Amino acid sequence: MSRRKLVVGNWKMNGMREHLDEVEAIGDLAAAHPAVEVGLCLPATLIMAGSEKRGAAFIGAQNCHMDMSGAYTGSLSAEMLAEAGATWVITGHSERREARGETNADIAAKALAAKAAGLKVILCVGESLDVRDAGDAEAVVSAQLLASLPEGAAADWLAVAYEPIWAIGTGRIPTMEAVETMHAALRAALATRIGAEADKMRILYGGSMNGANAAELLAIADVDGGLIGGASLTAEKFAPIIEAAD
Ligand code: PGA
Repeated sequence: MSRRKLVVGNWKMNGMREHLDEVEAIGDLAAAHPAVEVGLCLPATLIMAGSEKRGAAFIGAQNCHMDMSGAYTGSLSAEMLAEAGATWVITGHSERREARGETNADIAAKALAAKAAGLKVILCVGESLDVRDAGDAEAVVSAQLLASLPEGAAADWLAVAYEPIWAIGTGRIPTMEAVETMHAALRAALATRIGAEADKMRILYGGSMNGANAAELLAIADVDGGLIGGASLTAEKFAPIIEAAD
């Protein structure tokens, strides 16, 4: 099964208008590597302006509300994000699961709201260091994935991102063997729910992916791309990752 590599930057709470030049340069990189699907999940304030500069990259959001409208001060609906120019949205990032108390059920509901608004979804899962050290990371993350997987999940609108929490922003990554084992376990878990569709679904790796380790990570059989934080903030840092995926 050949799955088109998906390489997505997650800018988190970074990016001002002055950084739109980087969005433009990354859009150019995407155009130069048409075999790779490249996107940038921007802070909501930059989605509209970023969409004008995106070139061949897509623009995504980093979160959405599970309802389409209502008395939710400070929140943004999937429809609003789509109208602003987003075509993808991240759900279930550990920084929201942990700091905002988002549950698996919340995340599945958000993914369904995103689909209803026409957005594609990157659904994040990953284990803490305690879980990794206890030796049950595959079982825990597989259960987390199945509990947050929305009804009707399919490869044409949803990708999974495996992001070990302890690898995010730390410069530490699991061994290649550990990544391979986890991705194979997640695909097997998906197959129990969605059958043959699991073979088509992209499973990204995230957590301290950079220009130096991307080629090795992306060469692993079940690694279908990356979700990249720090190393996606400039075209210069992001370029070698996109190249490694090509
Ligand atoms: P990082 O972040 O690449 O800076 O580790 C990845 C993520 O949180 O998506």
